[in-house]
Amino acid sequence: MPELPEVDTVRAQLAPVLTGRTLRAVAILDARLTRPIDPRRVAAQLEGERVAGVERRGKYLVVRFESGLVLLVHLRMTGSFLVAAPGGLPADPYQRAVFSLDDTADVAYRDVRRFGTWLLLEEDELAAYLAVRLGEEPLGPRFTTRELQRRLEGRRAPVKAALLDQRTAAGLGNIYVDEGLWYARVHPLRQAGSLDSDEIAAVRTGLRRALRVGIRRQGATLSDYRTPNGGRGSMQDEFKVYGREGEPCLRCGAPIAKTRAGGRGTSYCPECQR
Ligand SMILES: [Zn+2]
Repeated sequence: MPELPEVDTVRAQLAPVLTGRTLRAVAILDARLTRPIDPRRVAAQLEGERVAGVERRGKYLVVRFESGLVLLVHLRMTGSFLVAAPGGLPADPYQRAVFSLDDTADVAYRDVRRFGTWLLLEEDELAAYLAVRLGEEPLGPRFTTRELQRRLEGRRAPVKAALLDQRTAAGLGNIYVDEGLWYARVHPLRQAGSLDSDEIAAVRTGLRRALRVGIRRQGATLSDYRTPNGGRGSMQDEFKVYGREGEPCLRCGAPIAKTRAGGRGTSYCPECQR
């Protein structure tokens, strides 16, 4: 599932393609993408809109139009975009939407598992919509140790589960939480509310480090994930614990262990994560 670095890679590649361009023709081929709104209605609203910018908030892509309309895209499990020259999109059974930009490119949205969502909002609805769903941006200036402490305080859930909650910090998922906790030397099953301020500071630093590596590597490529330019991320070559169970810890040599937390498979070092 794409997390902050993967979605940020999509944003970085789509922004120069979309910004300043007009959506000439829009086809939404799967009603699940926009439900409960009729996809024909959404497509009709998008047609003729000129893109003002492409941003990211948590795991959402935020496509802003000059009219004030906003398209909020969540890729969920397997959503992705592909950019091609006009008429150059490959035939694809998993294509769920297509739009052509004035003279420059065609863009497809593909989604194998079909959990992705497209939601049209007015600019003044966006902040309220996101505020109840998302905490601070973990790479932003407001994600301080004190802020993280406030979000974890009194919580009995394992710290891993608390960090997967998008209201704790926006954009984290299974990979980057496991990686961040390894950097922080904090055990994923520790009760979130039991961490002292030094440990919380280490978790904050560890998460930020994992996310920065992920962005630099253009995200992780698991199964058939592709970036909009058709490339692959290489974060999987940087994994410290994720998917490494049984292999030696890169810090202490102990075999990486696997458990479950927050309903997700969780990798950690039983020796150096306490
Ligand atoms: Zn270790």
